[in-house]
Amino acid sequence: MSAFKLPARDELGFCNIFLSALGGDGANMGGKLLFKIGCTHFGLDGGYDARYGSEKKGTATDVSVRFCEVGTPVRQAGPTATPHFLVAFHDDLIAPLELGRGLQLNAVCIVNSIKSPEEVRHLLGLHSGTIVCVDATKIAYQSKSRMNMPLIAVLCHELGFPDTDVTAVIKKQWPKAAESNMAAFNAALGGSTRETFSSNGYPRQSPQVSRGPIGWRNMLNGGTIDALTHCTLNRDNRIAGRGRVPKFDKGVCTSCGICLTVCSDPGGLLWRDGRMDGIDDAFCKGCMRCVEVCPDTKKGKALTFDYA
Ligand code: SF4
Ligand code: SF4
Repeated sequence: MSAFKLPARDELGFCNIFLSALGGDGANMGGKLLFKIGCTHFGLDGGYDARYGSEKKGTATDVSVRFCEVGTPVRQAGPTATPHFLVAFHDDLIAPLELGRGLQLNAVCIVNSIKSPEEVRHLLGLHSGTIVCVDATKIAYQSKSRMNMPLIAVLCHELGFPDTDVTAVIKKQWPKAAESNMAAFNAALGGSTRETFSSNGYPRQSPQVSRGPIGWRNMLNGGTIDALTHCTLNRDNRIAGRGRVPKFDKGVCTSCGICLTVCSDPGGLLWRDGRMDGIDDAFCKGCMRCVEVCPDTKKGKALTFDYA
């Protein structure tokens, strides 16, 4: 048996934690650190799952950590649809990704936001539970750390992991960044706003329905995988770009192709008959890498963005 008692468990014995972020935010690294702390320092067992594809900066990603006490059979894998703990790396992911769905009663939601817990509760449509708001973006900037550090600090604290044990692991993991990370850790615990809500009109929202696993029951004849179901043809990346799309001037473009070499999702650049033809604003993630590399010629730059 584990010495550490989990604050919540589902019918299979798991405490489910779900981190929702964008590629590049460090959610995967933060989730791995959390899992390591839980398993190696608090004697827990469990499972880890990261859905990303987003070494491609900017795409919506998520990480699931399931903790259970040692001796509990680990019979569930993949992302959790029923979190006891939710960590949202951006409050504007809540509505488009429907992050309120599937939350357990009395869930704990840690949100990178300058909004009040009351406002975030309405965004989530939270039935009951605790909202902790922390301005992780500002803390990361001021402490020269990363956004995952303040959010993981608050998460570990809410899980009941002693702060001293968690900070010892972080210092050992990244000795060169210890000062910045400790500044972020302490700023998050000292600067977060926490409020607990009882049930008050919002019904508990049903979990999101996943496509389910591919296996012998739903495989096409000959073992073919239904490409249309699983490809990214209909993907809409506007969540990540938040409406930011480069401006393209066809008259200036030399079709040199340099933008293609850096685009984090090349489907964002539309090419026809060997020439650059525009931006697909549903596919573009607004990372602006193409704008950075597009050559500045006598005629100007073909790809620009007004950062102001
Ligand atoms: S880098 Fe600029 S000039 Fe070159 S193809 Fe892309 S948009 Fe055109
Ligand atoms: S088109 Fe440009 S801004 Fe859009 S995803 Fe590609 S590189 Fe990023």
